Amino acid sequence: MSKSLAKDSASQVTQTVRAGIECGDPTGCVVPPLHLSATFAFRGFADKRAYDYTRSGNPTRDLLAEALSELERGEGGVVTASGMAAITVVGYLVPVGGRIVAPHDCYGGTYRLFEAWRQRGERQVEFIDFGDESAVRAALARPAAMVWIETPSNPLLRITDIAAVAAQARAGGALVVVDNTFLSPGWQQPLTLGADIVVHSTTKYLNGHSDVVGGAVVARDRAVHEQVAWWANCLGLTGAPFDSYLTLRGLRTLHARLDHHGRNAQSLAEWLEVQSNVRQVWYPGLSSHTGHDIARRQQRGYGAIVTLELDGGHEAVRAFVSGLTCFSLAESLGGVESLVAHPATMTHSSMDPQARTRAGLTDGLIRLSVGIEALEDLRADLARALARAASVLPRTALSA
Ligand code: PLP
Repeated sequence: MSKSLAKDSASQVTQTVRAGIECGDPTGCVVPPLHLSATFAFRGFADKRAYDYTRSGNPTRDLLAEALSELERGEGGVVTASGMAAITVVGYLVPVGGRIVAPHDCYGGTYRLFEAWRQRGERQVEFIDFGDESAVRAALARPAAMVWIETPSNPLLRITDIAAVAAQARAGGALVVVDNTFLSPGWQQPLTLGADIVVHSTTKYLNGHSDVVGGAVVARDRAVHEQVAWWANCLGLTGAPFDSYLTLRGLRTLHARLDHHGRNAQSLAEWLEVQSNVRQVWYPGLSSHTGHDIARRQQRGYGAIVTLELDGGHEAVRAFVSGLTCFSLAESLGGVESLVAHPATMTHSSMDPQARTRAGLTDGLIRLSVGIEALEDLRADLARALARAASVLPRTALSA
């Protein structure tokens, strides 16, 4: 990892490890209890306790929400049933007919939701290339209710300068939202860079063990947080207590996991970049990456997603993924285990082919979620996969 990246703050590492520890339960338990109860008894007539019904509030879920809010430097967090639930709740802050400016290469599920709202006339949505400064300036010159940022983007890891876009967007009165799923607060804190709201799929790095689907929203201001909490309860999108318990458990090892993920990803990206049948590698930690300088400035780590394009399109991808032993062919990312995905047929298949082409998602693109296995095993597995992919290339392509 580059030496010039900012270091983890010691207090953030400690806060993460101690999330929910000694929470004040009367038993003195060190690890917080799991409150599965759907409902809580009133003390007496019209005498409600702190909690009455788990959709509206739950002690286990609140511990996770408080920990995430603290780590993102927010004024309040809401834990939702999935990342898409978090995105939906935040979308409800936009009035009917209001305008959202979003990246043309955002997560496929976000694209599908925003596009459905647009087609039903519920929101105006403009998808733009956030890598094109003049397109961003033009889009933000007109009033918008919300500007949606995803950085690094999925799967091409385009980096958006959060502070610069937030300043322009807020000048026009828009709420600035950052989907921070790919980095987590361990590697990036958008609220400190001028964003109003952070959303997460906690399914990914925050839980880190691929055994929970969950989400979270953290707001910089209390008033915005209250609105998010109101909509989450109203729509019934809050997270389940057991999922919150597991996520809180996973969260405590976040920094230890991120260190390992980041080291593995950087080494593999550098190695992949010099392999002969790899056309291009996208990883913000490579100096060849267009967003490398911004990433170095605004992130504390370059992430653990590495995207590559193989020579040979579909057939080469098929040969590459068939036979991998350390990378499971599966959607999702951010777990301790390594995964491989083919965006065109998996994560981004809900985008129509023209939208995919516009976003640069070719058939030969492969996304790796680099886990924390031994680096030598991961590299050996990829070396065998590249040899298989090369074997299906026509001879002319090999000699070119
Ligand atoms: N945001 C990003 C960047 C994602 O990658 C994903 C899922 O992959 C989501 C949001 C949606 O999260 P979930 O699958 O937890 O609903």
